[in-house]
Amino acid sequence: MIAPNKDPMGTAISEYYHTGKARKLVVQSSCFDDDEIPVPHLFRSYEKMPPLERQALDLTQGKTLDVGAGAGCHALYLQEKGVDVKAIDISTLSCNVMRERGLKNVECVDFFDEKLEGEYETILMLMNGTGIIGKVNNLPNFFKALERHLASGGALFIDSSDLCYLYEDEEGFIELPEDEYYGEIDYCMKYKGIKGEPFDWLYLDYETLEVAAANAGFHCEKIMDGKHYDYLAKITKG
Ligand code: SAH
Repeated sequence: MIAPNKDPMGTAISEYYHTGKARKLVVQSSCFDDDEIPVPHLFRSYEKMPPLERQALDLTQGKTLDVGAGAGCHALYLQEKGVDVKAIDISTLSCNVMRERGLKNVECVDFFDEKLEGEYETILMLMNGTGIIGKVNNLPNFFKALERHLASGGALFIDSSDLCYLYEDEEGFIELPEDEYYGEIDYCMKYKGIKGEPFDWLYLDYETLEVAAANAGFHCEKIMDGKHYDYLAKITKG
């Protein structure tokens, strides 16, 4: 779990919810220049969501688990539509905001933790949902957790960007690094004086996800492509 004094994103979410304002949520990585997450984006309405996310919500049915729910934008939309939805996140601050926003079923728990109970007809991992997997070599572990929590006949909807475009040259040729998987990124977030612990975040190309799913006995299909090297996938038990 992330303690409040080490939680830049949770602090930004909490501050924005309580005051309507937030400063810059800075994202640092050894792979990129400093970047920024616009905090209001974490509170986006259905209308402001990218088509990939709207599609995942439109396909959601039955008992649902929103993994890494953040400020709860997807879970709140579903609850308002009458869906039986549970939101989980490792940030206690974010979980508190989700409860304050009226979300009935919130648990501060890690998706990989054995303490997480239940089987779900729909599992959502959105806004580069593959990130939570962390590293390619954690994929088998991820599918073990999915095996536990996905009801038979149920579906996981997960999105990611494929970072291959970072390796495109001026002629349009893409040459990927050979020594390590190019979607494994180290991140660290900062908000005002609060610096979080570094964490691993995985951007996964569709083919690697499909192969890993098949190896773990799951079926994977691409539901749609996004505007910029991103996609939404649906994973079901094979
Ligand atoms: N899905 C939300 C938030 C995305 S940010 C949205 O689309 O707006 C990713 C979130 O995942 C963060 O809130 C982070 O705290 C949470 N998270 C990271 N690793 C997690 C894990 N192992 N289990 C549950 N939540 C996790």
